[in-house]
Amino acid sequence: MSERIYDIVIIGGGPAGLSAGLYGSRSKLDVLVIEKGVFGGQAATTAELENYPGSIENCTGPALSERMKHQAEEFGTSFVYDEVVDVDFSGDIKVVKCKEAEYKGKAVIIATGAAPRLAGFKGENELRGRGVSYCATCDADFFEGLDVAVIGGGDSAITEALYLTKFAETVTIIHRRDSFRAAKSLVEKAMNHPKIKFILNSVVDEAKGDEILEGLVVRNLQTGEVSEVAVNGVFVFVGLDPITKVFEGKIALDEKGYIPTDDEMRTNVEGIFAAGDVRVKMLRQVITAAADGAIAAIAAEEYINEKFNK
Ligand code: NAP
Repeated sequence: MSERIYDIVIIGGGPAGLSAGLYGSRSKLDVLVIEKGVFGGQAATTAELENYPGSIENCTGPALSERMKHQAEEFGTSFVYDEVVDVDFSGDIKVVKCKEAEYKGKAVIIATGAAPRLAGFKGENELRGRGVSYCATCDADFFEGLDVAVIGGGDSAITEALYLTKFAETVTIIHRRDSFRAAKSLVEKAMNHPKIKFILNSVVDEAKGDEILEGLVVRNLQTGEVSEVAVNGVFVFVGLDPITKVFEGKIALDEKGYIPTDDEMRTNVEGIFAAGDVRVKMLRQVITAAADGAIAAIAAEEYINEKFNK
């Protein structure tokens, strides 16, 4: 067990966590970022970030994430790959228990983000990785010249459908309504794209195929008509769920599992802050995650100064 006590332990290495790392380290605090998977979070699975102010042409999620991590590292942020299994927020020194080790901090910033939700059709789990995917950036390459479908009508579905056109022969967007949550400019782009087709007011009931995906059983919600759509891949973008299971009973969560905070990213527990997609908020974007991270780090610094007379 490490006896080192960090100033701030940040859980999650997406844009919120990395920005908190940068701001904390620039304030000369001893900061650790714990990440269980890939630095960059959801942003690292996003093909193109065209709405991050100043993002250069063809700015990819992985490239921006790498730059964010590098920048925090340059200012002294420490990083570790580990998975949080439990937390003890009851004392003045907060304890974050991971699979490999235990980390202690005067303050903790929760920046665990959100994970893709399953659509719930038959065969979704069985054919995961065999045609069913939740990440176009990771898997688009496998579908060069093939036919794919995208499920959903939000920003993720439309953005990733547009990205998939670079690889696939056709991209069929299957959406349960005939209007979209996605930004109008994105929807317009998709509507005008020669490779993109739409199946609206429809849901996927089943993925067909023994070893690999061969097609989807699609049901029209208005007519009840059932049809089969032959595709080699289906990309599911039906929303996200917050990654907060480990914090249940430790801090307040809303009915969907998101963390309520005040404007300074404080949770209901002293010394515990939350930033990014995991937080109750109106707009979940890279820019708002990065802003949350910056605010959380400075609020944590103020808290540490007051509490520990640093
Ligand atoms: P989202 O905005 O919650 O959209 C989810 C979509 O999936 C909706 O169209 C929803 O339909 C549909 N859906 C939900 N459950 C379904 C089910 N069981 N079966 C079929 N369809 C289902 O999620 P998201 O697109 O992943 O975006 C998440 C957040 O990240 C949003 O705040 C978004 O703005 C942000 N984001 C932004 C960008 C960007 O700005 N470039 C890119 C990606 C994500 P209904 O509309 O009928 O509910």
